[in-house]
Amino acid sequence: AENRLRQAQRLEAVGQLTGGIAHDFNNMLSVVIGNLDLLKRRTELEAKLLRLVDNALEGADRAATLTSRLLAFSRQQSLKPQVTDLNLLLRNMEDFLGRTLGETVRVEFDLADNVPSVFVDAAELENVILNLGANARDAMPKGGRLLVATSCDEIEVEEERHGQLLYPGRYAIISISDTGEGMPPEVLEKVYEPFFTTKPVGKGTGLGLSQVQGFVIQSGGTVDIESAVGEGTTIRILLPEGEQREDVVGMLDGKVDGPLP
Ligand code: ADP
Repeated sequence: AENRLRQAQRLEAVGQLTGGIAHDFNNMLSVVIGNLDLLKRRTELEAKLLRLVDNALEGADRAATLTSRLLAFSRQQSLKPQVTDLNLLLRNMEDFLGRTLGETVRVEFDLADNVPSVFVDAAELENVILNLGANARDAMPKGGRLLVATSCDEIEVEEERHGQLLYPGRYAIISISDTGEGMPPEVLEKVYEPFFTTKPVGKGTGLGLSQVQGFVIQSGGTVDIESAVGEGTTIRILLPEGEQREDVVGMLDGKVDGPLP
């Protein structure tokens, strides 16, 4: 428990620092991207120059992706939960996921009809799913299959799972499986650490899974990963059932921090 507390404090400090930097960086980057965009539209530019502008834009866009991840990572406190139909949210992402994963990856859905609604920040949950989709894509350079599934779980007595206390009740499960390269134990052990990445510079930020974990814990759930080298990876997210409640309505505008009691 003490370990987890120290980890949480460290995360908070890192979060505050990176949030400040990311915010300033974002402003500067929008100046860079804006001007590059203007330059790109100059039709008299010769092809060679245009390529240079495109290169610069690509780099700046990558930097913008990084800063937006840093911002999301440091903004963990201000989630805006709402009652969310998971199956609907996932189905609405089908096209986008398909495009993210490209033509060599088959995206399949297996959504159960008894999945409870959850009380989460839906926009942030979409980001989480996209992060997981992007990780799956990176793990399947030669193609493969991504399976997005939902199911329902019932917890009878209070229990601790993956270091997180779960209250009795119904839970929704989202599981995302890929048939990619998988992870050896020494990687799996570190995946939630902020900035841990095995990807080349400019490609990985190492913030994806720490963001996923932060979001899920703040939403009162747990996340766990099963992975086998050469076989693939499955990420399971458990989220508590969340009905709209009278006493919650006033809290919907972001004043509530973290999961509800
Ligand atoms: P990033 O994707 O920027 O590296 P993440 O925190 O999302 O940051 O992931 C950390 C590391 O975990 C990745 O660099 C990769 O080694 C590993 N990883 C994450 N998801 C998968 C996956 N689906 N299959 C294989 N390895 C994965």
